[in-house]
Amino acid sequence: MPRYSPFMLFRTQPKALPTAAENEESGFQLMVQYQAFNKQLPLMYCILLCNTWILSCNHLESAPHWLTLYIPLLLSLVCLSRLGFWFKTRHQALTPALVQRRMRQTNLLAAPVTLAFAGWAIMLFNYGDTSTRYHIAGYLALTMLCSLLCLMHIRVAAIIVTVIANLSFVILIFTSEQGQSSVLLITINIVIVLSGMMLMLYFYYRDFVQLIQSHIQAETLSRENFALANLDSLTQLPNRRKFFHDLERHCADNSSQQQRFALGILDLDGFKPVNDLYGHGTGDKLLYAVSRRLENICAEQASVARMGGDEFAIIITANMDEAALMDFCTQIGKTLRNPYAINNHMVHISASIGLAIYPDMAQNAHDLYEFADYALYHGKRNTRCDVTLFSSDHRKLIVRDANIEQALRRAVLEQELSVFFQPIIALSSERTVAFEALARWHSSELGIVSPAVFIPIAEQAGLISDITLALLAKALQVARSWPEDIRLAFNLSAHDISTRRVVERIMLMLQQSGVDPQRVEFEITETAGLQDLAQIKWCSEQLRQMGCGITLDDFGTGFSSFRQLHELPLTKIKIDRCFIRDIHSNPLSRKIVQSLMTLSCDMQIQCVLEGVENADELQCIQSMGAELAQGYYFSQPVPEVMSHSLLAKQADASSSENTIQTPENHLGTVDITFKQRG
Ligand code: C2E
Ligand code: MG
Ligand code: MG
Repeated sequence: MPRYSPFMLFRTQPKALPTAAENEESGFQLMVQYQAFNKQLPLMYCILLCNTWILSCNHLESAPHWLTLYIPLLLSLVCLSRLGFWFKTRHQALTPALVQRRMRQTNLLAAPVTLAFAGWAIMLFNYGDTSTRYHIAGYLALTMLCSLLCLMHIRVAAIIVTVIANLSFVILIFTSEQGQSSVLLITINIVIVLSGMMLMLYFYYRDFVQLIQSHIQAETLSRENFALANLDSLTQLPNRRKFFHDLERHCADNSSQQQRFALGILDLDGFKPVNDLYGHGTGDKLLYAVSRRLENICAEQASVARMGGDEFAIIITANMDEAALMDFCTQIGKTLRNPYAINNHMVHISASIGLAIYPDMAQNAHDLYEFADYALYHGKRNTRCDVTLFSSDHRKLIVRDANIEQALRRAVLEQELSVFFQPIIALSSERTVAFEALARWHSSELGIVSPAVFIPIAEQAGLISDITLALLAKALQVARSWPEDIRLAFNLSAHDISTRRVVERIMLMLQQSGVDPQRVEFEITETAGLQDLAQIKWCSEQLRQMGCGITLDDFGTGFSSFRQLHELPLTKIKIDRCFIRDIHSNPLSRKIVQSLMTLSCDMQIQCVLEGVENADELQCIQSMGAELAQGYYFSQPVPEVMSHSLLAKQADASSSENTIQTPENHLGTVDITFKQRG
């Protein structure tokens, strides 16, 4: 804390140039000082005027008119013009520069005004009698005291007034006649009081400055805290907290006028692989570069915030219809797709955006955010469009999902859930080597609901682990009845495999089931849910140590990360069926599948091709050297009893080499030993 002395006022050469913060601080201090003084100014001039005229009246008889009327009139005019100026400018917005100018003017005025009033009073001293001289001494003392108090926030002016007042009294002492010792004594008293007041003023001023400075520090600190709490430190964009605050404010502002604005939630595609391949330093720089591009393109039309990870939110306030909005967002997508040169790498990413419009689609901030987020999620999962506008279809899906979630919560899982089994075929021996357990839910309220629908809902609602455990118990019971060489493939949600408690229960269940853990392989779907890779790694290692296999399911569906391949203790990958569909007629699919198979071969792990639906696809993958396959061409998922009959027929077939038909499923009759099909 700096120490203050009156001499600081006369210091003209600062030791070092002040920083911007110091300048701001001193500007603020001057402002507070000036405001405190400005409040007192009219009072000071009023008291001065009243006292002057009272003193003048007391001398009307004894002093000439020029001294009792004309000079006071002139002084009054000066005071009134100053008061008029105050009145005119009292509401004027203050800036540090203006305040500085006004303070300088006040300091400049202090000397002539004080000299004029004090000089006038001293001139009156030679007229009148002892009592009027007491009056003059009292006038000078009280008026100066009052001015001093009013000027206490402007130290230079206060010092000028005090010095002139004290000098006036010295003059009075010298001009007073002998025998007027009481006037002399009063004068000395007053000088002592004024000097004491001056000292008190100095202390007061010092405390006042300290108070202002601690106020400034507190203000600076709270401003910094505010910035920290509202700014994302990596990208320098507003953060999630600030975004929700702004969104609420926009909705509140626009609710009265029902003005439209749109919310876009933007998610980067391909950001994770960049992080994995080039490291977090490059990932951070990429996020920073993306933020700058977003800021540039949004300019006046929209404001952008970082929600966390690779997700951003854009509030589009410019007046646009739906087509213009879609164009604007498509433009954003295009801008972000341009390559980034970071740390000597050319990095490529893209972006998906979910859009919702206020108030057309949602009437409050919460719904608007949910809908934009839903549009993004839905677009990513289903349509794979860059920009997805929330629609009435999405609204229906939300209602459907909510109904399913409610039904799931009320369901008696053990009764309503069942497991179907789909064979996995070894193409070389043409035999079923495993069955994948697939969940089936016959809801008492909703009827049959596909696992592709209810599993993601259960994951989001936090209900998945109960479902997993109920299904695993059933699947293990069936697997126990199969021959020892038939394996069980069981799907685990990312939520299951990243929760220690669930994995421990799975392991316990396995131990108690009587099924050799070596016969069980867990399929993890590589969804966006595989976030906590360290936890997933730990859990899958536990399962591996028991002897279970770990398969990465739906491989290549867009959420793939080579880091997952590298870090997880995988025993298999399952290539997604979207690459198998029409593989015989689609060279690109063939190339992708070929390279994924090579990859698995290099990693010395097995590879399953799922979704084989016809002979052409089978022939194609066989020619490529595929070893394991699964799909409707071999069999649809079947209930437990049919898994037994499939296996029984397979056993018969291997002994008789006859063509054996699987039981009917809803696709029709499917051969299990397909070699005779030609
Ligand atoms: P998935 O694990 O990839 O399972 C394969 C899905 O593809 C199954 O759908 C299966 O019926 C279907 N499928 C198999 N062959 C073909 C084919 O040739 N053509 C076509 N078009 N489809 C084929 P399903 O049973 O509807 O399951 C969908 C998804 O739900 C599963 O995909 C899996 O991700 C999830 N799921 C199913 N059961 C469970 C479960 O018990 N736990 C968990 N966490 N997820 C499960
Ligand atoms: Mg699976
Ligand atoms: Mg799959």
